[in-house]
Amino acid sequence: CGIVGYVGPRQSQAILLAGLSRLEYRGYDSAGIAVIDVDGDLGMRKRAGKLGVLRDDLALAPLPDGTTGIGHTRWATHGGPTDANAHPHLADDDKLAVIHNGIIENFSEIKAELVAQGYTFRSETDTEVAAVLLGREYQTHGDDLVAAFRAVVQRLDGAFTLLAMHEDQPGLVVGARRNSPLVIGLGEGENFLASDVAAFVEHTRHALAIGQDEIVAITPEGVSVTDFAGNPVEVEPFEVLWDA
Ligand code: GLU
Repeated sequence: CGIVGYVGPRQSQAILLAGLSRLEYRGYDSAGIAVIDVDGDLGMRKRAGKLGVLRDDLALAPLPDGTTGIGHTRWATHGGPTDANAHPHLADDDKLAVIHNGIIENFSEIKAELVAQGYTFRSETDTEVAAVLLGREYQTHGDDLVAAFRAVVQRLDGAFTLLAMHEDQPGLVVGARRNSPLVIGLGEGENFLASDVAAFVEHTRHALAIGQDEIVAITPEGVSVTDFAGNPVEVEPFEVLWDA
């Protein structure tokens, strides 16, 4: 239901949690974050319940922080509101993390294909199917996360804002949208992705709206936006004018 991503020089956990808190007004039943730490390891924590449950859990057993991260609040559509069904969902030997807003309508046919190939699942969600498919495509696209992402979104029907990051590609968050919102927040030496500008407006008011059926890759230094076929597209900058 709520999505936020960060790349830059700062430790991401506090930024992600504050961003998710700004999106709480939309309603949710679970929350989770993933970060890539200084050693290039992906860490993930997710819990059913309010953001406070996740915060308390992180306070008791901290996750190594890192400067690349994604965070999610879930409004369950496929699979009940459990820890296992919360996002992020991991794939590619837990090196890849994916979060998702929306509904992937053809998930069961893709899941059947992946199960037949020997892939296993740890949740009942439609989202994990996109995560596992992305793990497979990452392998077959020579570890090119953007190319793998392109292959995945072309297979999906329905509504999605998807964000992904891989521990072998620190400093990169990739996102895509169809029938579901995604905006870029442009910082200085840092960039944000979110389902709503509210998630990053305390850090920057410079924003770019991602159009329908577009893919975005953000690094601390820049952003690139293409359509699902990989052609570059122009994005319109705008200023967030309302009071934060
Ligand atoms: N369909 C996904 C799920 O049930 C995402 C729901 C959402 O938008 O939060 O996990």
